Order: sequence, then structure tokens, then C-alpha cells
Amino acid sequence: MEERPFSDISYRLYLDEDKFMGSKCRKCGQLYVPPRHFCLECRSEDMEWYEMKGEGELAAYTCISIGPAFMIEEGYDRKNPYCTGVVTLAEGPRIVARIEGVDASDPEAIKIGTPMTVEFLHRGEGEKAKTFLAFRPS
Ligand SMILES: [Zn+2]
Repeated sequence: MEERPFSDISYRLYLDEDKFMGSKCRKCGQLYVPPRHFCLECRSEDMEWYEMKGEGELAAYTCISIGPAFMIEEGYDRKNPYCTGVVTLAEGPRIVARIEGVDASDPEAIKIGTPMTVEFLHRGEGEKAKTFLAFRPS
């Protein structure tokens, strides 16, 4: 695989390509998502890119009715809330992501432990184009 630096910029470039990538320590095997350029466990800088399976379980969530400006631009508001959450990935690490495919106006119905699959949300055009990491119930 091509060697992009282990940075947030690279992480976002991969998301644009529908790839969910972390970094893995070649010495001790520890995984980091978003990627880190050195290992917090063993201090090694010998890292490699690792493509995550994109599967996990919902560990926590919040439904938001008054979000930041870019979410309001997407049409989310008090009448149309959205969800963000924490997903425990099959490989172990946890990640914060948008939660799609759930009824954010009925948070009580959303269940911790629901199996989730990664989804890449491409929003905006041209220079404003951005990809958001999301998960939805499998
Ligand atoms: Zn390590």
C-alpha cells in the first residue's frame, strides 16, 4: 500500500476513498484509529496502515437537535435531529462517528450493543466536499 504519513489529513483522504484506515504498530500490534505516527504502548515509530473491517457495536450515543452550522446546513434541526455515537470496533478501538439509520427523534428505541457497519457520507461539492465517518445498524 502507498505510504501516506500517519496523520489526520491522510485519514480524511482515505475516508474520501471510502476506506476506513487506522495505523498498526509493527512491534506490538496495537491499533490506532484515527491513525497515530507512533505507538503509545511501546513508543515505536514503526507503524503500518491497517484497513479496518468497518464493523462494531454501538457503545454510546447522543441525539442532537441543535447542532453546529454545518449540520443545520444539511437540514438537521429540532424537528429533524441527528445522532452521534461511539462505536466499539471489531478490532477493539472505539471511535466517535455519525450514527445513521436510527430514529433520532426516538432515542429510547436505540439500543446499546446494536451491531453496526461503517458508511461513508459524502457531503458538499468541489472545495467544500467532505466525507464523514458514519455507522448504521448492520
Ligand atoms: Zn507498539
